[in-house]
Amino acid sequence: MEILTKDDFEILHQCPWDNASSDIAEFLYQDDMGCDIVRCPQCGIVYAKRRLNESGLPKYWGDYLSRVHVLDPEAVVKRNKMYEIDYAFSHQYVSSGRVLDVGCGNGSFMGVYERHGYDVYGVEYGKEAADTAGKTHSVRYGVFDEMNFGDERYDLIIFRGVLQYVPYPTQYLEKAISLLARGGHLFITAQPNMNSFAFCLFEKHFTQPVTGADFIGYTEPALSSYLQSFGLLKVGEKFFYEETPYADVEEDILKMAKGVQYKRAGKEIDFKAPAYWGNMMTLMYHKNM
Ligand SMILES: [Zn+2]
Repeated sequence: MEILTKDDFEILHQCPWDNASSDIAEFLYQDDMGCDIVRCPQCGIVYAKRRLNESGLPKYWGDYLSRVHVLDPEAVVKRNKMYEIDYAFSHQYVSSGRVLDVGCGNGSFMGVYERHGYDVYGVEYGKEAADTAGKTHSVRYGVFDEMNFGDERYDLIIFRGVLQYVPYPTQYLEKAISLLARGGHLFITAQPNMNSFAFCLFEKHFTQPVTGADFIGYTEPALSSYLQSFGLLKVGEKFFYEETPYADVEEDILKMAKGVQYKRAGKEIDFKAPAYWGNMMTLMYHKNM
């Protein structure tokens, strides 16, 4: 990755979800890039008050695919298993039609829907990932909320593990809502849950913490109340854990207990949170008009 300088960061003076002043935000922790992570007392979301800007983002994400999403065979097997779990959940609500995967990465999740006969399209901000996905799928490269889709509409729009990376997420969500067909569904999954016990206990050592690059951490009430204001009702909700390839229930409970012991002893936690009940959200919303 290219070296980041102070010019690659911006300071937020308002909550990126509801625009409440960042002065009233509660300080939680500082990440490894020196960014303060805070919680908005008004909407409850967790966000980076200092974060990568338009110059820092491409440096950070330009080679993400090869740097982070490396072809670790075991990780790929686990991720593919998660794709199947997420797909099975969404299939209960939408069993055919046009699908848009926003932040489709290298296209693996899209591929699952394609194999099941859906008509699938993707959007990707990372150049390397977009090029890879574009070889075998229909993918648009660029910034989602700036794209012109004409009169195209979709039956299912997916944000899988994506919204934490979006600088102004309400714009993305409003764009997605405008692209939903009548009776369409919005699927938010693999989304870290800031109301989870593990995040509250581990904070910066959570499985997927909020950082200056993973800008925003959500809660189910924040997402649901926002989407409800646009007429989207929550019709499905899961916090997958035991059925995932990441669960090792006994070991995970012991790690959580160790975290509690550290907290009670006033000792700083210096190890990574385990997978656990409630860590990740899977939410389905229905546009009922
Ligand atoms: Zn807020």
